[in-house]
Amino acid sequence: MRANCWMGRGKVEVQDVPDPQILNSHDAIVRISSAAICGSDLHLYDGFIPTMKKGDVLGHEFMGEVVEVGPEVRNLRPGDRVVVPFPIACGHCWACENELFSVCENSNPNAGMAEKLLGHAPAGIYGYSHMLGGFPGGQAEYARVPFADVNPIKIEDDLPDEKVLFLSDIFPTGWIGAEMADIHDGDVVAVWGAGPVGQFAIASAFLMGAERVIAIDRFPYRLRRVERMGADPLDYEEGIDIPDALRDMTGGRGPDSCIDAVGLEAHHATPMYAYDRAKQATRLETDRPFVLREAIRSCRNGGTVSVIGVYGGFVDKFPMGSFMNRSLTLRGAQCHVQKYLRPLLDRIQRGDIDPSFVISHHMSLDDTPHGYRIFRDKEEECNKVVLHP
Ligand SMILES: [Zn+2]
Ligand SMILES: [Zn+2]
Repeated sequence: MRANCWMGRGKVEVQDVPDPQILNSHDAIVRISSAAICGSDLHLYDGFIPTMKKGDVLGHEFMGEVVEVGPEVRNLRPGDRVVVPFPIACGHCWACENELFSVCENSNPNAGMAEKLLGHAPAGIYGYSHMLGGFPGGQAEYARVPFADVNPIKIEDDLPDEKVLFLSDIFPTGWIGAEMADIHDGDVVAVWGAGPVGQFAIASAFLMGAERVIAIDRFPYRLRRVERMGADPLDYEEGIDIPDALRDMTGGRGPDSCIDAVGLEAHHATPMYAYDRAKQATRLETDRPFVLREAIRSCRNGGTVSVIGVYGGFVDKFPMGSFMNRSLTLRGAQCHVQKYLRPLLDRIQRGDIDPSFVISHHMSLDDTPHGYRIFRDKEEECNKVVLHP
């Protein structure tokens, strides 16, 4: 089959690779009809996630048609249309029973690698490094889906792929970002990062009762998009000091909730950014936490900071004094997607939200390398690329 492979920093290639096979009685093989490129794929592309190997098949946002199931998979049959969540969960461990699917204790065969870096291991994730299981991803014609009796959601009506594909990651990820931010009716919420995940966090914050959402980014086309969604855009490259602006916009108090939808490759035009670049280049810190620092310092006293942007390892100059003395709550997660599949599909079916609003580009699988490049370099007003194998 054809698949998009990681070939080193800044390089992906569509290659012929072996077809996936059923390896376990709970597996299914899915013929992929739509897949997407995610902002977190860019961290792999840029070489910031350790334990990648040349030839690894990328992609953790995909859906398609079941073509084969293992003997223990009784809830799916060939021909079923499914969306596959990006974290792989066994459904039966302590974490899964507590709906903490992205930290499943059974799905990551390389848990020992992750423990060295993180202390304890999270779940396996498709196409997201050997530390997270080394599972071939879904930017491909076919994928092997482990624990297929637990993970995918069947799409039983004729909703098009583009409305349900993002249940695999970015819609639930934006949703959990807003949920962890503890939003109440009338709250003011600030979201750093107006990319697709930030856009879903904004949409979710409004659905949860936020009165005002302020979105921080530097790309005018993304800020225009979030403005159309009803958010107030702030462009930090226009010489605006973001914490000052947020204070002014909230009567001096600060936003009730702050959501970091940027993560480890934060950018900024200040000396602190140069400091982070230098420390990251010399491997004295793995991640550039500019947004995390700014979100913590901007949040109102007693407020909540929610982290859905991806971090890999260690950060420097963490504002612990601000966090502790001002009674903040800090939460983070890789989304427990399985928990949100049904309720968010219900919302799509009811018409509360049409997730296809994020799509800017449709491409064939063979054009995936071009998709990565324009998404990373923010060319052609690239917001979200959907691939059609
Ligand atoms: Zn993703
Ligand atoms: Zn589990």
